[in-house]
Amino acid sequence: MAAAGRRGGHRLPLTGPAPAPVYTRRMAATPTDSAPPGAVPEIDPAKAEQRLRSGAILLDVREPGERAGGYARASLAAPLSAFDLAIQALALPPSAELLAICGTGVRSLQAVERLRGAGFARAYSVAGGLQRWRAEGRPVVGVGVLDADETERYDRHLRLPGVGVEGQARLLASRVVLVGAGGLGSPAALYLAAAGVGALVLVDDDRVERSNLQRQVLHEDASIGELKTASGARRLVGLNPGIRIETVPARLDAGNVERVFAGADLVVDGADNFATRLLVNSACLRLGIPWVYGAVERFRGQVSLFRPGQGPCYRCLFPDSPMPGDAPTCAEAGVLGVLPGLVGTLQATEALKHLLGIGAGLDGWLLSVDALAMRFGKARLHRDPACPACGAPPPGEPA
Ligand SMILES: [Zn+2]
Repeated sequence: MAAAGRRGGHRLPLTGPAPAPVYTRRMAATPTDSAPPGAVPEIDPAKAEQRLRSGAILLDVREPGERAGGYARASLAAPLSAFDLAIQALALPPSAELLAICGTGVRSLQAVERLRGAGFARAYSVAGGLQRWRAEGRPVVGVGVLDADETERYDRHLRLPGVGVEGQARLLASRVVLVGAGGLGSPAALYLAAAGVGALVLVDDDRVERSNLQRQVLHEDASIGELKTASGARRLVGLNPGIRIETVPARLDAGNVERVFAGADLVVDGADNFATRLLVNSACLRLGIPWVYGAVERFRGQVSLFRPGQGPCYRCLFPDSPMPGDAPTCAEAGVLGVLPGLVGTLQATEALKHLLGIGAGLDGWLLSVDALAMRFGKARLHRDPACPACGAPPPGEPA
């Protein structure tokens, strides 16, 4: 019988390309080591909670939209519709004890069948699903975190390992300041708004000019002459009415920077000049706010993430102000229209990863892109002990 041939070492590869589904057996024909023939491999919620305390892993096999309405505490998302992918992403050892929970205890049996077929001999279904779990007063969290609009809008996030309902809730609770609503700020703002970052603060004192529209995709022809903050806010609210857009139609300076940055989880730098970046760097060091650096020139760009107190700061990288002409602005040197789109999107990517706490950030690295050669490079950055901004004494401590 099919099961016999799979005994010993038959399991999902944990890395590499997704395998073809191997789960074809029916429940009744699935005798396993742990469950005698005919026995249903399920346990009741009380026993499940007990097992969780001794290291078992609870898999919520419902779909993301269902999970958004609340889930058993400590359960990990592994929707049955993308089960193989979810299990691979969780990288579970075959010896793990796995408990599957669904709405009423039917789909979790299918999940257990698939898990056992893939070599997880200690897989059990939680009888009665979340319905019984809830009725018995066992802990359910995430209730009411996302409403129906949000559940639909962020569906593709809810399916992602590392994001899910918890990550989306984190994004919705985040506040990000965008310095500049121009070439870099445009794609960054659009993607952060679309992703559901709950509060975006647009800082810019410029008005939209015709020559901006070659790259500043936040604005449109009809906005020429309008404040960029007003034009940008209208576009962002149109894209995602569920988030808050605040506008600061002023030039960032030493007198307002701390007030503007106060309460921010992250700052995205879309400035086009060195002086503003120095201001952003020193304010972020004082306030302990991480910031995503981005710069473009002609066909090249750079991106990094600076986290105060952890690794280098911007001035470790650029200790001296450039001589006039050494760091020309886009207005002086020109820029390929798509380049700020590329760099601003990389900045938004870093921002989302940082807010979600996933992946390897660019902190301590400088990513450079050369669009003509289509070459990306990554160079290690080091903290300069003699840095005029973050050198000894460490920021926040008296001299
Ligand atoms: Zn420094």
